[in-house]
Amino acid sequence: MLSDAFGRKINYLRVSVTDRCNLRCLYCSSKDQFSWLPPEEILTYEELLKLIRVGLKLGIKKIRLTGGEPLIRKGLVDFIAKLSRLEGLEDLSLTTNGVLLAEMASALKEAGLRRVNISLDTLRPDRYARLCGRPFLAKVLEGIESALRVGLHPVKINTVVMKGQNDDELEDLARLTLEAPLEVRFIEFMPVGEGAPWQKEAFFPARKIKERLLALGKLKPTTSVGAGPAKIYTFPGAKGKIGFITAMSEHFCQHCNRLRLTPEGKLRPCLFSDLELDLKAPLRAGAEEKELSEVFLSALRLKPASRFKAHLPRRLMRSIGG
Ligand code: SAM
Repeated sequence: MLSDAFGRKINYLRVSVTDRCNLRCLYCSSKDQFSWLPPEEILTYEELLKLIRVGLKLGIKKIRLTGGEPLIRKGLVDFIAKLSRLEGLEDLSLTTNGVLLAEMASALKEAGLRRVNISLDTLRPDRYARLCGRPFLAKVLEGIESALRVGLHPVKINTVVMKGQNDDELEDLARLTLEAPLEVRFIEFMPVGEGAPWQKEAFFPARKIKERLLALGKLKPTTSVGAGPAKIYTFPGAKGKIGFITAMSEHFCQHCNRLRLTPEGKLRPCLFSDLELDLKAPLRAGAEEKELSEVFLSALRLKPASRFKAHLPRRLMRSIGG
């Protein structure tokens, strides 16, 4: 079992397979950061598998694929099929905007994906088009239905709550859990990415979200698969669950169990720190497993105790891997 300098057990690697995306969400845009990585900078699937094997041998047990938008990278289903068979992997999940999920859910499930998180900040088509830069709400809703139909479980909905943008839809989004076995997770907006718009003004604390939802009924604490730092509740008689991720108002650094691998092969010990350790250069220079393991171990030694000891991250979420 891997543990860091503060005794935290680290068993979770978030792997970003691309920085590219088929949406242009406001919180992932910045006039200072508009370019994509050149394809040759992005780790190949073979390289990813090699690094993930090293991580698994060291004690990583959970992998989440993310991006950018992971579903737009060609060959992802085959990659997942190989990944899901790796020894030591106990939990394989994916974060997606859901735009391509209707057409891919069945193949993803067959390849060995177990569960999925789908980002959805609004149920209004015009607002979706404005916040996400593309008119794809109907596709995402189809994607959510497909995920449920093929048996990906649990299907979680990630909603970033932004004051003045979508805080008037909290009840509508929460109501989804009454009839469908979805877990709607309300995430506090985080100041990630230099030049990203309306960070401070848009903060809406989880405490207020919860207060608003009480109008729909009493929230009873419950549990969930892979809940991580989310606090999970359910309404009486509901098929689904509600989660709160208090990334800002009540940080959970003391329980942090993760490392991140960026699409160009940087190992990032903390989302909120720009500190990154390069795995790609040694990998492409033919490093042996021992040398690559050392990079993982250095990342653990350098993982900050809390994000208050770190700086606000300069890179946008889509380029780190959200
Ligand atoms: N394209 C995939 C998706 O949309 O889920 C994966 C990448 S996206 C960057 C991952 C998650 O990061 C999304 O749920 C998005 O809402 C979230 N995110 C991006 N910027 C954020 C911010 N500043 N604060 C909180 N969450 C953010």
